[in-house]
Amino acid sequence: MDNKTILKQLKLQAALMELHDENSFKIRGYQNAVFNLDKTDIELGNLSLAELEKIDGIGKSIAANINEINQRGVSTALEEYLKNTPEGIVELLDMKGIGPKKIKVLWKELGIESGHELKEAANSGLVAKLKGFGEKTQQTIINALEFKEANANKLHYAEAEKLAEIVIAEILEIAPDIKIEVTGALRRKMEIIEVIDLIVGTDDIEIIEDALDDAENFEQVIEESGPITWRGNYKALRIPIQLSFCEKEDFVKEQFLRTGSNLHLSLEVKDKLTLKDIVRQQNFTSEKEIYAAAGLGEIVPEMREGTFEIEAAKNGNLPELVEMKDLKGILHNHSTYSDGKHSLEQMAQHCKDLGYEYLGICDHSKSAFYANGLKEDRVIQQHEEIDRLNEKLAPFKIFKGIESDILYDGQLDYNDDVLASFDFIVASVHSILNMNIEKATQRLLTAIENPYTTILGHPTGRLLLRREGYPIDHKMVIDHCAKHNVVIEINANPWRLDLDWRWVHYALEQGVKLAINPDAHEMDGYQHMYYGLLAGRKGGLTANMTFNVLNVEEIGKYFAERKQKITVNG
Ligand SMILES: [Zn+2]
Ligand SMILES: [Zn+2]
Repeated sequence: MDNKTILKQLKLQAALMELHDENSFKIRGYQNAVFNLDKTDIELGNLSLAELEKIDGIGKSIAANINEINQRGVSTALEEYLKNTPEGIVELLDMKGIGPKKIKVLWKELGIESGHELKEAANSGLVAKLKGFGEKTQQTIINALEFKEANANKLHYAEAEKLAEIVIAEILEIAPDIKIEVTGALRRKMEIIEVIDLIVGTDDIEIIEDALDDAENFEQVIEESGPITWRGNYKALRIPIQLSFCEKEDFVKEQFLRTGSNLHLSLEVKDKLTLKDIVRQQNFTSEKEIYAAAGLGEIVPEMREGTFEIEAAKNGNLPELVEMKDLKGILHNHSTYSDGKHSLEQMAQHCKDLGYEYLGICDHSKSAFYANGLKEDRVIQQHEEIDRLNEKLAPFKIFKGIESDILYDGQLDYNDDVLASFDFIVASVHSILNMNIEKATQRLLTAIENPYTTILGHPTGRLLLRREGYPIDHKMVIDHCAKHNVVIEINANPWRLDLDWRWVHYALEQGVKLAINPDAHEMDGYQHMYYGLLAGRKGGLTANMTFNVLNVEEIGKYFAERKQKITVNG
């Protein structure tokens, strides 16, 4: 069994144990095991019971539990808890902001056994009356349930992209003569995907429909399908699959019409005509030809949103978008010093192996106690190790950074002497995420004014499909970054993609540079650079406005000069 599945089961078991009032010592054992194993590199699925028992922080009974998961896919203990818990209650356990203890009260005292029942109880005010709940918790519950409802059956882009590849490969296997590609929001690389949207060029729709009927992984939903559309599911996954059929010779045109947003296709481009009009006038063999017929340069699929790209194309101002090969280094990453999975040396070596010139290490700062944030003495210790590694790995360079928590009032959480010991600082909010827009914005503005802040990290704290970000006035924040020469991060983690691409164009107009940062907590995390790149490109990000296209000398010089200004001014 893979680690992810094992951990998911242990985590669920810990929550269920809490729900069923088990011994708190035992519960903590499971929670600690999950915490420790989450950071391990060891493939738990390959270990024998004796080997599992030797892992630090795992007792005999948890080792036996994991062993059973390896053998038969699930442990008897978990099965037993699940048997004694209504399904709806199990689902409620992964609701944000409400722990198992509260869920137990809702279950036992109000007899709630599903999200639907909980929503009714909360809307009628019953929840607020429970001991330990109150109006605020009730509202949190309503928000969380609504958020969950709105996001059921959706995927973030990275997952959707992978799934689409699998689905396409499988369809090509059963119907090799077709032409099939992604289209719609998926082709526009939208951050959240509601349907795996595919366009199929075929000269015989029936053949492919019959083949899909016979394929066991595909299940058609007849009511939602039509004569040229197949809608259904793949392997019982919750996100729908949509296949739009067209003649092979119409493929370019049909894919084009299904890719651009409505706005993109219906803005006037030439002589009162829209792209929709132009594409229907004749047949085209490429999308480049379509744009040329409209007198425009080719607009890449990810930019076809109808925001600013048509105007830019009309004026001959289409941005030359940043590419993967432009990125010279990776800033904002974690190591085992705080909550990362791999050591500083592993993170650096891997970054170097991938061909990058530098790594910015930004472990959590001291307020982030839950993430083992660095107290001052450990900052010094890390800097000594960085100096040693820099000798060893030269000309590759590790820059000394920190992800400094932005405190409640916008202050960073070290004194100036410590702040001055870093090459650069990513300032991020990690706690008290429920401020109103005025307070949350002011908090960021204060952090941006701090002369030590180099980069503003994940500006809204959002986790796509899981948690809404705190509200901020994006314009004020971006304007303030422009004024104080602060770079804004596009956090490249597919769950974050924060700064949102919708604000990229505005940031660039204000002259604010953006850094594509993976916020990697393990070596594989560097792969997320690609998703950050896509988000940037979606908003029109060019290489010269991307902070980490600077090479190792340039960025070193930038950090040094910026720090020098602080000393001179202060
Ligand atoms: Zn962070
Ligand atoms: Zn981070």
